[in-house]
Amino acid sequence: MEATSIIRTLSNETNLQILSILRSGAFNPRELARILQKDESDISRRLKLLERLGIVEGRWIRAGRRNIKVYSLKVEEVRISFEPGEVVIQTSKDERYEIPVPESKIPKVESFFGREEEIELLTSTGKHVIVIYGIAGIGKTALAARVFGDAFWYQVNEADSFDYFIWQIGLFLNSSGYPALLEYLRGGGREERDILELVLDGIESTCMKLVVDDLHKCTDEKILRLLTFIAERMKRGLLVVLSREKPRLGIVDAAYLHLRGLDLKSSYSLIKSRGVKIDLTDFVDIYQLTMGHPLALNLFAEAYIEKNEIRPEKFFDFLFWEVYQALNGDEKLMLQILGLFDEPVEYEAIKNIYPKKNAFAVLYSLLNKGLVEKRGELYFLHDLLRNIVEEIQEVDEREYCSRYIDYLTGKKTIRDFLRALRYAVRLNDESRIRELIELRLRKFKRIIQDFPDAYMKILIQLSDNPHIKKELGHIYFQKGFFEKALRLWLEVEDKLEGIHRADLISSLADVYMDIENFDEAEKYLRELEKIARDAEDLEIKLWYYVELTKFRYYMGDMEGALESAFKELEIIRRMEPYPELESLITLHIGDIYLGMENPKKSLNYYLQALRLSKAYNLPFMEHLSHMELSKVYFTLEEYEKAVEHGKKAVEYYLMIRNYRRAADALAYRCVSYIGLNLPEEAEKDAEEMIKIAQSTDYPVGWAGYIFLGVAKMLKGEDGREYVRRGREKLKKHPWLYEAVLKELGRVYRTGDLLAE
Ligand code: ADP
Repeated sequence: MEATSIIRTLSNETNLQILSILRSGAFNPRELARILQKDESDISRRLKLLERLGIVEGRWIRAGRRNIKVYSLKVEEVRISFEPGEVVIQTSKDERYEIPVPESKIPKVESFFGREEEIELLTSTGKHVIVIYGIAGIGKTALAARVFGDAFWYQVNEADSFDYFIWQIGLFLNSSGYPALLEYLRGGGREERDILELVLDGIESTCMKLVVDDLHKCTDEKILRLLTFIAERMKRGLLVVLSREKPRLGIVDAAYLHLRGLDLKSSYSLIKSRGVKIDLTDFVDIYQLTMGHPLALNLFAEAYIEKNEIRPEKFFDFLFWEVYQALNGDEKLMLQILGLFDEPVEYEAIKNIYPKKNAFAVLYSLLNKGLVEKRGELYFLHDLLRNIVEEIQEVDEREYCSRYIDYLTGKKTIRDFLRALRYAVRLNDESRIRELIELRLRKFKRIIQDFPDAYMKILIQLSDNPHIKKELGHIYFQKGFFEKALRLWLEVEDKLEGIHRADLISSLADVYMDIENFDEAEKYLRELEKIARDAEDLEIKLWYYVELTKFRYYMGDMEGALESAFKELEIIRRMEPYPELESLITLHIGDIYLGMENPKKSLNYYLQALRLSKAYNLPFMEHLSHMELSKVYFTLEEYEKAVEHGKKAVEYYLMIRNYRRAADALAYRCVSYIGLNLPEEAEKDAEEMIKIAQSTDYPVGWAGYIFLGVAKMLKGEDGREYVRRGREKLKKHPWLYEAVLKELGRVYRTGDLLAE
């Protein structure tokens, strides 16, 4: 029994993804859900099952004032061996589960015909880029699935976006043992160039096969650029592109296959397998009409019409109508409903949308008739059929789309949320849009960081709607376009109410602080205070205190900032766990104490943030804590500890290519080495900082010259020229120069430098 459950559990894709991610460490269900873009309660349920089966183990750890559960792998492998009369499942913990061999069943024969020559060509080309193109329904997908069944399959959808695409690739690469891309994305990295390089590196080092299906639908420039980039450089991986037109992927040495219909023999086998009894000689004429187009052959087999009744003009439409007219009412309804959606829809959703109880039987029958396609649990109409069905659409789009929106909203994942919003925008349904954006504010805060492109693509369709304008402002703000965000927000200042208005006012306060207009910031802060006081809404209260802390901190009112930061902490602990923000607030408290020259207290809070972010497996926050710890230990003159934490931060930031943070962390590690009188080590860090400055012009990096000069002097060499160069570079940043000298002054007599 247990063994059957293990096999069943392991044959589930999501469970396998969970296991592959757990390989890299212990995780709390929340963060796993974020990585996999799934509902948290679903992930918890799966983890519990895996725990019960002895594959993962959960343990409680204390983080701050909370107990949280984290899961890690209990076994490293599960071996399945076929032994006489039984199948033995063995885990690396040496537990054996046995399963009796079930009665042999005839293997399911895939109804795939012909294509021998094409298969030969595809398997022997030796090229790293393969393009299969041809008209809709000609069999590109079927052929590629046959030959590249083990590839990572990406089905392009018009609504797709670059960020979603790369997140999927990141997940796949992670499960193939290449975590860098996923870590980069989780850490908030968004530079296109970095992503291109990481994807290429990942594909090359794992020899990944990537199939991109329906490339002609791709409207996202960035995805196209990515494909061209990898296609031009790939030496070990494989990229297979399926498209209706011959795609332009730059000057690539690719194998091109223009796919045409099946040959006569295979076409004949196909229709015979569908139960049509017809002589080969009679079939020849039909074959001429279909040209071996498999989808048309399928329809023909379904309609099975005597050849003299066939009208050769618009042959495909004609066949479709023949089949359509023979359908019963339920089948027609189902077909029309599926025709409303330009993406595959899962069975659970169909059950919710389709108004009768016989969804399964109807789908099954349509599937058998070759009118509906299935991929896993997803059902859809082939594009060719959908276009025809769209023309005869009789069902009420609003009614069925609304049901789909309800279903998707209940799923509680970002991906489903985005879909729901897409349909609400399509219907121009004002109140739905408002509700969904409220959900974004409360539950899906991370969309702005994780999937800005996907979100933008949907919002831009209805950019006059005030709620949408406000959201667009968030995306621009996140990307650093403060003025643009401000303009949008001011445009809708009088058009929003409730939580939406609170969000707007808090955003205005925030952006005014960032552009250093503190009078305006204060004005909005006052207004926010009033809203927060009147609203019995923790979310809004939290926003208020976050802005208040920031304001007071900027104003140099440390006592006040501390007070409101504690208020933030108090509120967030009364809300649903939001560990990213909780650890960030904890870090801020550390910063404030440091600003109050109380490093001991600040150390406490940094350590607390470290524990919290570790417990929730939030690598970005974890390494931010390491960086702060390195800084505070340096201040406390505990240089060894400073180096130890600095090391972790530097490694991580270099890995996720966040060079600014890497330079900050290197700077503290470097001065700590100077404090330890280890000039060789300091020299290496200083050189690394200079390299970063040379490629990014990040000012902190230029301080590397000063540190390099000091390291040389500690070695008894002449380092004056380096110090001079550093001073020259930092001329434009007097404030930074002062800060560098101040920190360096703790471990080196900087008076000597200035005298140079
Ligand atoms: P495309 O990707 O070119 O639009 P598909 O691969 O989706 O076309 O094929 C259209 C339909 O024809 C599908 O239902 C598919 O299962 C069927 N089909 C395609 N090729 C074959 C084949 N070689 N043998 C049997 N059925 C096929």
